[in-house]
Formats: sequence, C-alpha cells, structure tokens
Amino acid sequence: MLDGRRIGDEIRAELRPRIFKLTEMHRAPGLAVVLVGDNPASQVYVRSKLKASEEPGIRSFHHTPPASTTTDDLLVLLDSLNRNPDVDGILVQMPLPKQIDSERILLAVDPSKDADGFHPFNIGSLVADRPAPRACTPAGIMQLLERCKIPISGRKAVVVGRSEIVGKPMALFLLNANATVTICHSKTRNLAEECRRAEILIAAMGRPAFLKEDAIAPGAVVVDVGTNRVTDRAEVERLFAHDERRLATFAKTGSTLVGDVDPRAVLERASAYTPVPGGVGPLTIAMLMSNTVALAEQHLA
Ligand code: NAP
Repeated sequence: MLDGRRIGDEIRAELRPRIFKLTEMHRAPGLAVVLVGDNPASQVYVRSKLKASEEPGIRSFHHTPPASTTTDDLLVLLDSLNRNPDVDGILVQMPLPKQIDSERILLAVDPSKDADGFHPFNIGSLVADRPAPRACTPAGIMQLLERCKIPISGRKAVVVGRSEIVGKPMALFLLNANATVTICHSKTRNLAEECRRAEILIAAMGRPAFLKEDAIAPGAVVVDVGTNRVTDRAEVERLFAHDERRLATFAKTGSTLVGDVDPRAVLERASAYTPVPGGVGPLTIAMLMSNTVALAEQHLA
C-alpha cells in the first residue's frame, strides 16, 4: 500500500525548518484561501487545507464572499491579494458559482502567487519542464512514486482523465520523468484494453469503482485519484466484503469514499496501490503547503 498519509507527513515535516527560517528572517509564509458561497464539499476541503497549513506555521487569510458575488467583485479581491505583501500564495477554491467567469478568475491570480499551480503561465512552465508552482494533486503523486521508489523512466503509464487540474498535468509530469504516456478520456475506445497496457495506472475520472480487473495488468502500480462518496449499502457490501472495518464505519456513517478503481480488482492484481481515502488526498494538501513555502522563499530572495 502506498501510504499517502505517511508521505504527506514526511513532506510537511521537511517544510517546518524552512517555515521556521522564513519566519525568523522575515515573516511567516502567507496563504490566502478564497471560498465563494456555501458548497458543503468545498467547505470541508478548505477547512482541512487551512488546518493543515496553520499547524506548521503558515499564516492563512480566509476570504468567504457570498454565493451571489460577481466576477468583478472577485477580481477586486484578487487584485488586493496580489498586491498584499503578506500573501505569498493564493488559492481560489473551485468550483465557483455559475455566474462567475472561472477562467478570468484563474487568469487574475498573479502567477508568482499561484499556490495551486493552475495559472496557464505555470502550466506552460510544466510543459517546458521549468521550475514553477505545480498543480498540487499530480505533484503529490510524483512525490509519492519517487519516495516509494517506484521506477518511472521508460515505463508505460496510462492516465485516465484529462482535466486541467489532474489528468493533463499528471501526464506531463510522467512524460517529464521519461515515462511513455497514454491519456484516456470519455471518448477513448476499449478503455480496459488501454489501461491493461499500464505499468503505472493513474485513475482520475470521478466514477466510483469504474475500472475493473480487466483494466489492470498483473503487477501494475495503481494510483487512484478518484474520491467518490457512495451511500448505496448493497454496492458498499459488494465492494468491501473483504474489509470489515470499512463496513463497520459505513454502518455508522451511512457513506464511504470509493476510488475510480474497484478495490477488489486492486487487491487481486496490483503490485502497489494508493488507498481511498488516505492515498492521494493528503499529498494534495502537503503540496499546497510546499508551493506556498517555495513562493515565500522566492518573494524573499
Ligand atoms: P473531471 O474534471 O470531472 O474530469 C474527469 C475526467 O475523467 C474527464 O477527462 C473525463 O473525460 C474522464 N472520464 C469520465 N468518465 C469517463 C469514462 N467513463 N471513461 C473514460 N474517461 C472518463 O474530474 P477531476 O477534477 O479531474 O477529478 C477526478 C476525480 O479525482 C474526482 O473523483 C475528484 O473528486 C478526484 N480528485 C481528488 C483529489 C484528491 O486530492 N484526492 C484532487 C482532485 C480531484 P472527458 O474529458 O472526455 O469528459
């Protein structure tokens, strides 16, 4: 099992002396988090990001404009954060309410304060393999693979999903690390066949337990980015018949998180895998902090 919690803790522990040094020399690294409206899932994500970043000494600035906010209001807020010398990193929690032009908002974040690594300028740097803030989830997955000593160079990697925040940057990271990369999406024909070629399979689709045994080559490394909440008892009993603890927790809470890969198939076939939860999620948060600290160091230099 590729333990994302342990690697996430390791990354955070390595950041502490850097945060301490910045705080001694100048001030604490500053992370501004903008959460528009009251989407409950976004509130949970933002709370965990704020909690995780404050604990090792990052100063956070929390902005919560109402759901009725306009694009112009948000642009004014971002302009003030871009100018605020105490803010090193800015994160705008997605998705934004429908009336807001998300593209304009992402473009309005100063690329040198782009804690999420989503600005096209920084994506361009990833394409060119130059240093810049990196999209946190794929950057965390690379850390996980490297720290768990999973070889990448020369291996066949398949990424299922082509979103701007996970699939596309993930494929670029793997390519930069000399993997031979295939990207699959909803129009891919014979998806299972494509996936079966993978020595490293990254699933980022948002479809609970979608990839089955026929999509996993024996011995493949499976990284499951999918985070899907499942409430159907029969489905949970089918997927986790082997996992008493999971069933007991489900009985108490009425829901559980399931990845994009069928957990039974992973156990059957993979040589290494990320659990859901406890795999990719903790790494995303650790890399957000890592980006913020790196930006603070650049602002001080
Ligand atoms: P997204 O923007 O909805 O993209 C999903 C991608 O999967 C799309 O490219 C889509 O193809 C592809 N896809 C959907 N159904 C498919 C199918 N049946 N066959 C092949 N491809 C299919 O999602 P996302 O933001 O990348 O997130 C993906 C998952 O990762 C979600 O469960 C999300 O919650 C999770 N996530 C977790 C973390 C974490 O930290 N753990 C971070 C980010 C995301 P098309 O492009 O053709 O539509």
